[in-house]
Amino acid sequence: MKVTFECYNCKVSQVENPAEAKEKTEVINGQSIDLKYYECPVCRALNYVQCDNAGSKNQLAKYLSVAKIQINANRQGRRGKQSGKAKKIQIHLRRIRSELQKELEHNGLHFVDYKVVGDDYVGM
Ligand SMILES: [Zn+2]
Repeated sequence: MKVTFECYNCKVSQVENPAEAKEKTEVINGQSIDLKYYECPVCRALNYVQCDNAGSKNQLAKYLSVAKIQINANRQGRRGKQSGKAKKIQIHLRRIRSELQKELEHNGLHFVDYKVVGDDYVGM
């Protein structure tokens, strides 16, 4: 599984291993925010790919616990009732993240649209 994106600054295409995204926590507008980013090897610009605040981390924790119940149900051959629930949480999570992202872009952070190549990615 790889992440591909184009550097916002020098427009050079990058192929990265998701496990190698750098992480940091910053306090922006009074919120503690976890950020994931890649540093462009060509121009050293920081390309942000993910942001989380307390609200989205809360949703993510809920999502993971629902997903776990779903996997167990599938294993036991039961039809899970969790997938609708998981979807709702995921929509909520995406909304929180995209609002946070807009706020951070106002603060001068550059987020990039990235593509994931490969499977077993849950969009987080
Ligand atoms: Zn660059």
